[in-house]
Amino acid sequence: MKKQLTISLSPEDASDEKIIVEIIRKECKIRPEDNFTVVKKKRSIDARSRYPFINISAEVFINEEPSPEPVVKSYYKSVSDKKKVYIIGAGPAGYFAALELIEAGIKPVIFERGKDVRARRKDLRNIQQFSIINPDSNYCFGEGGAGTYSDGKLYTRSQKRGDIYKALKIFVEHGAGSDILVDAHPHIGSNKLPLIVSNIRETILHYGGEINFNSRVTDFIVKDSILTGVIVNDKKEFTGDSFILCTGHSARDIYYLLRKKNIKTEQKPFALGIRIEHPQKLIDEIQYKQNPRSKFLPAASYKLTAQISRRGVFSFCMCPGGLIVPSATSPGEIVVNGMSMSGRNSEFANSGIVTAIENEDIMEYERFGEFAGLEFQKEYEKKFFDAGDGSQKAPAQRMTDFVNEKITAQPGKTSYIPGVYGSMLKELLPFFVTDRLKQAFKIFGKKMKGYYSEEAYLVGIESRTSSPVRIPRNPESYEHTETRNLYPCGEGAGYAGGIISAALDGQNTARSVIKKIK
Ligand SMILES: Cc1cc2nc3c(=O)[nH]c(=O)nc-3n(C[C@H](O)[C@H](O)[C@H](O)COP(=O)(O)OP(=O)(O)OC[C@H]3O[C@@H](n4cnc5c(N)ncnc54)[C@H](O)[C@@H]3O)c2cc1C
Repeated sequence: MKKQLTISLSPEDASDEKIIVEIIRKECKIRPEDNFTVVKKKRSIDARSRYPFINISAEVFINEEPSPEPVVKSYYKSVSDKKKVYIIGAGPAGYFAALELIEAGIKPVIFERGKDVRARRKDLRNIQQFSIINPDSNYCFGEGGAGTYSDGKLYTRSQKRGDIYKALKIFVEHGAGSDILVDAHPHIGSNKLPLIVSNIRETILHYGGEINFNSRVTDFIVKDSILTGVIVNDKKEFTGDSFILCTGHSARDIYYLLRKKNIKTEQKPFALGIRIEHPQKLIDEIQYKQNPRSKFLPAASYKLTAQISRRGVFSFCMCPGGLIVPSATSPGEIVVNGMSMSGRNSEFANSGIVTAIENEDIMEYERFGEFAGLEFQKEYEKKFFDAGDGSQKAPAQRMTDFVNEKITAQPGKTSYIPGVYGSMLKELLPFFVTDRLKQAFKIFGKKMKGYYSEEAYLVGIESRTSSPVRIPRNPESYEHTETRNLYPCGEGAGYAGGIISAALDGQNTARSVIKKIK
């Protein structure tokens, strides 16, 4: 017999398996002579009341065995001598596309401009400590893509894009904790993601796929609107009939190359703003009404939205217990983002606070055609860099000073390792962005009492939230609308935002390629 139930427990009880099983046993009136198995389905925190509690939904099998979970890996077969499909970019979209191809008996050949996860680490240190940016190896470029050194949040707003469970299962089969299969807001953390990414690499190689690091695609060979090959590192030519292009939102050279080759791209709305950082204790106190928070509760997070002048202003990529990181991809620009470790145990809580940038907001960039958003993004990233001393030190301002238009002479401590200096962010941001953020902060302060605080700092610029360019594709075949054999995929093509949605888009794109081939 199978029963389903949801129980609510204190955080302390919810951390004890024996207590969970005992409560379920009583709830389901299971007799001492019965055999039973509990399969947890979902776990979430409800912090709305005075005392937060944990909801656990489970299926209970009484005198019956639960059916075994299929292992995704068991469907893989060797593809070393099989037909090749080229994948450009080893981010989540690229690696999950590769696994899907292997499952279907097709050989993925991946080109990645950056290094493997291990070698990449040195370049991240160079950015943090010496402000040296390697344009092929940084927080956005390299094995695992932009998500490798991140917070590793694994949720997506869209439930429709594909088989989320399968993607999570692949992470678990490569070293992630099985908690991510049940947590309402699963996350992995930067200390664990690199190992998982390298395990996925080993699976791809083991089954006969090919991965080429330090291999930047520098040209496309196009004849009569058919992509017949790519050139790697300005030298080597690879010909084929299917190319999955998943180079992420920061590969501006790819957008320029597409234009040079007359391959259609389109302008796309995106979002831009700053990163805000509060003491984690303050966010815990607001969300859990506890200071210090119970050791059985994770660092608290939040999600905020406001509608200002017909545009959304919203929190983006919130990293509880995290760090603000420098995620520029070229020298001469400042870009910030956020990451965290699996324990989310830093003393800070950061989040992007960004506003939607619609095409009408940046009409003065119209002369750049479909690259209006991209050039706008570039201009402000350079402006933030030029305001400083030539390093990755970022301008910062106390939240209350920003709203009251006062310079912050000496910002307090932040998690941003290259350092911050006091600034008037209003002078660096587009006026309409400043205006919307100021209004939104007041609203957020009402929605979350204590959020509008002297203790919060803004650090900029948060400009790479999503791609400002779309590479259009046919919704059925996933092939580019005009150029045959080209399959735009993932965040850089404008079809994903975040690790899981990029992974799902990789799987879906691969399925379309498989359909064509088979
Ligand atoms: C610091 C940071 C933290 C983040 N935190 C989270 C988070 O917690 N949760 C979440 O869901 N999302 C997070 N994101 C966003 C997430 O990482 C991206 O949405 C996701 O990685 C997009 O996947 P993708 O495969 O489409 O592209 P990407 O991950 O950007 O991968 C593209 C790959 O293509 C390669 N490439 C680019 N140009 C070329 C070329 N010419 N030739 C060969 N290779 C090329 C790049 O080196 C890169 O490895 C974060 C991003 C950053 C930067």
